Amino acid sequence: MQYKSTRGQATNYTFEKAVLAGLSPDGGLFIPQSIPQAPADFLTKWANLSFQELALEVLSLYIDSSEIPREDLKDLVDRSYATFRHSDITPLHKIKDGLYILELFHGPTFAFKDVALQFVGNLFEYFLKRKNAGIENPADRHKITVVGATSGDTGSAAIYGLRNKKDLDVFIMFPTGRVSPIQEAQMTSVLDKNVHNISVGGTFDDCQDILKSLFANDDFMQKYNLGAVNSINWARILAQTVYYFHSYFSLLRSRNITPGSTEAQKIQITYSVPTGNFGDILAGYYAHQMGLPTSKLLVATNANDILYRFFCSGVCEKSVGEDGGVHETLSPAMDIVVSSNFERLLWYLARDAAVEASVPEAEKDLKAGQIVDGWMQDLKQKGRFDTGAKVLAEAKRIFDAGHVSDEETCATIREYILPKDASQAPYVMDPHTAVGVTAANAVVPQQDSQHVVISLSTAHPAKFSEAVERALKDEPSINFAEFFKTVSPKEFEGLMTAERRVTVIPRADQALVIEVIAKELQH
Ligand SMILES: *Cc1c(COP(=O)(O)O)cnc(C)c1O
Repeated sequence: MQYKSTRGQATNYTFEKAVLAGLSPDGGLFIPQSIPQAPADFLTKWANLSFQELALEVLSLYIDSSEIPREDLKDLVDRSYATFRHSDITPLHKIKDGLYILELFHGPTFAFKDVALQFVGNLFEYFLKRKNAGIENPADRHKITVVGATSGDTGSAAIYGLRNKKDLDVFIMFPTGRVSPIQEAQMTSVLDKNVHNISVGGTFDDCQDILKSLFANDDFMQKYNLGAVNSINWARILAQTVYYFHSYFSLLRSRNITPGSTEAQKIQITYSVPTGNFGDILAGYYAHQMGLPTSKLLVATNANDILYRFFCSGVCEKSVGEDGGVHETLSPAMDIVVSSNFERLLWYLARDAAVEASVPEAEKDLKAGQIVDGWMQDLKQKGRFDTGAKVLAEAKRIFDAGHVSDEETCATIREYILPKDASQAPYVMDPHTAVGVTAANAVVPQQDSQHVVISLSTAHPAKFSEAVERALKDEPSINFAEFFKTVSPKEFEGLMTAERRVTVIPRADQALVIEVIAKELQH
C-alpha cells in the first residue's frame, strides 16, 4: 500500500515515509492510495479474534509485509497493547439495551490517545532500529527529536508512548498553569532521560505557534530531524480503526448473535464519537468504508460546533465575530476550531460528490486534491468554504452530528451516576464521554435491541474530576470527596507528590525553547 496527499501533489509514499513525515510537503495529509476492503469472509473469520489479533489483520491491509514483515508487525502490536490494564484492551460496557460505552481509556495515561500512541512509539523505534542497524558510532546514528505542544491528553500519551525509546527524544510544551493538575503530574513525573517537559509562560496557542515556527525553521528541522506525533499522523488514525471492528464483534458476542446472520443484519449501529481534531471518528469512517456494518457515525461536538454546523449546511465557517476564537468548555480536549483531520474526509467527499462525472477516471484523484486545496485556501482567506448540496448529501449518508452545552454535559454525568431507572447500573463518565452520550440520546431517541448506540468513552472520569464535581454539586446524597475516592484509580495515588522533571521558561519565545532543546540534547 502506498500513500498520497489530500492536496494531490505528493504520491507514492511508503507507509514508513508517510508516518515519519507526518504532513505532506504540499501541505496536505497522507491517505492510502485506496481504502482496502476487509476480506469477503471477515464477519466469520474475524468474529472471535482478540484485539491484538484483529489489529494485526486490519493493519496488514494498510502496511505491506515487504515493509514490515507480518511477524514484526505482530510483535509491535503485542508490545503496544501489553501496557493496557484490561484484557479486552477496549472493552464494551453495557449501560442498558441499546446503549453501550466503548471504553478507550485503559491505557497507561487513562485516555483514548494511548490506543494510537503506544503503537506509534513502538513504530518509530522500529523504523529507527532498522535504519541504525550496524551503525556503531553514535554520531552517525539516525535520531529523531519529537516536539509537541499540548493542553492536556496528547502530551502525556505521547510521553508514555515514546519514553525510553532509543535514538529518540521527546519535548512537550505546555502552558504554565493551564493544564489540569493530574495531566501535568502525569507528564512531568516521567523521569526517563529522553523525556523533556517544557512549561511555557503563555497560552496553548502560544505553544502551538512556537511548534509551527520550529517546523518552519529549516536549519533547526535538519539539525534535529524533527518528528511529530500530532493527530494528523496516519499511523494514529490507522491504529484507531481496530476498536470499531472489535466493538462490533464484542456486541454480537455478548448477545450470542452470529455475525453475518439475518439477526445481525437487522441491528442498526450508531457510533457516537466525542470529536475534536476528527481523528477518532475518521477511523470509524475508514472502518465503515472497509465494510464494517455501521448505520451512522455521529459527530458529537461541544460549544465549539463548527463541524456540527457543517453537517447541517455543507458550509464550513469559523463562527462570526469571534475571530475563530475557541470557547473554553468542560471538555477541553474538544476545544478546537478547525479540526485538522477533517481534511481527510473532505478529500473523499470531494472525490465522491464534487468531482464532475466528465473528469476521466485517472484524473479524479488529482481533481479531488485540487478541490480540497481550494476549500482550504477559502477557509484561510475568507474564513469559510461551501461544499454544496451534493457533498452535504454524501456526508449525511454516513454521518450525523450533534452539539452539546456544558449544562447538558453535567446533566448527563449526573443522570448516569444516579439513574432513575432501578434496572440501570450507575456509571461514572468523564465530560468528553458525556458529550457523546448526550448527542446520541438526542439523535437516536429510540435505543433498543435493534437500534444500538455505541458511544465512545475517551477519558477516565478521574482525569476530569472538576466536571464530575460540578455535575454533582447540588446532590445532597453524595459527599464528593468520598465518592471520588471510589472512582479514582490506584495508579493516581502518589502521583501529585511524585518527583518531577520540567524546565520552566518565563515567556513564549521560540529562542528560549531552542535553547532548552539544544542544552538537553548535549547529554
Ligand atoms: C483527543 C481527545 C478527544 C478528541 O479526539 P479527536 O480524535 O481529536 O477528535 C476527545 N476526548 C478526549 C479525552 C481526548 O483526549
